[in-house]
Amino acid sequence: MLVVMKAQATPEEIQAVCEQIEQLGLRPHPLPGAQRTAIGITGNQGEIDRGNIEDLSGVAEVIQVSKPYKLVSREVKEEDTIIRFPGTNATIGGRDFAMIAGPCSIETREQAFAVAEEVASAGAQFFRGGAYKPRTSPYAFQGLGEEALKIMAEIRDKFGLRIVTEAIDNEALELVDKYADVIQIGARNMQNYSLLKAAGRKRKPVLLKRGIAATLEEFLMAAEYIMSEGNYQVILCERGVRTFADHTRNTLDLSIVPAVQRLSHLPIVVDPSHGTGKRNKVIPLGRAAVAVGCDGLIVEVHHQPDKALSDGMQSLYPEQYVQLMNEAAQIAAVLGRTV
Ligand code: PEP
Ligand code: MN
Repeated sequence: MLVVMKAQATPEEIQAVCEQIEQLGLRPHPLPGAQRTAIGITGNQGEIDRGNIEDLSGVAEVIQVSKPYKLVSREVKEEDTIIRFPGTNATIGGRDFAMIAGPCSIETREQAFAVAEEVASAGAQFFRGGAYKPRTSPYAFQGLGEEALKIMAEIRDKFGLRIVTEAIDNEALELVDKYADVIQIGARNMQNYSLLKAAGRKRKPVLLKRGIAATLEEFLMAAEYIMSEGNYQVILCERGVRTFADHTRNTLDLSIVPAVQRLSHLPIVVDPSHGTGKRNKVIPLGRAAVAVGCDGLIVEVHHQPDKALSDGMQSLYPEQYVQLMNEAAQIAAVLGRTV
């Protein structure tokens, strides 16, 4: 794939170059930046004739991207991607640090509202909650489905929180896209290419969790699947990987944060809840995640963790979430970021 770059391009100029690329039977992917606009090109069988692209009016330079992931790469887009949520100040990426909090699963309206109230008053900008749960056992609670999505839509209206929830398959994706603000793709589905492509055809941001045994390159290639379909709003999420260590549920690999930031312009958040599986490790690892320079935390919180239908052992009590928010804010400030 080749990349066409143009300094300080206007939206009209970008549009014009994209149309010319389409006329060559190729697919343009505009990634505007303040310094330059990159247009990734896909849809080619074999080599693209460089000359054809270089000759298009408005094109300043054509480069070959060396990495297997293209649109995800910093070679294509130097500046950090910032995901914005129209009508709010919430962002993921950039200077502001994002806090995504809520229960593992939406269990009842009362439970969801009780947790939402706590995390909203503590200052979270996003509410997480599972409607469709990928459970190890088919006999475990599978989620309330659309009913949970409706409850979360009410939570958005009442508390102003943006909603993050998982789509476990293509069918759930349609409903998640209808009700939520961010489509989560879970660790177990990180290499479900049909689901990644379908999420790539949606226009809502996608939070992509790292697979339980995914390498950095496999993780970035999964993000490339989403972007290659035209959805450029991808948020990466480190949630721990499977290792020999058995003192935690997973081993939270914080070293992937700077590794991703070197190679990709996409924002990356950290999930210390699934990353440790143990409530008493969530705050320390959450603090460390802020310090390592990630763009946000996604944390499980429950007002009655002992009664939770899933992941109660790793769910913070609301007062612990308040503590994490305070500590995260102090650490973020050292890095010049605001929680
Ligand atoms: C979740 O966030 O509820 C979840 C199931 O996470 P993961 O896909 O990381 O296991
Ligand atoms: Mn969970």
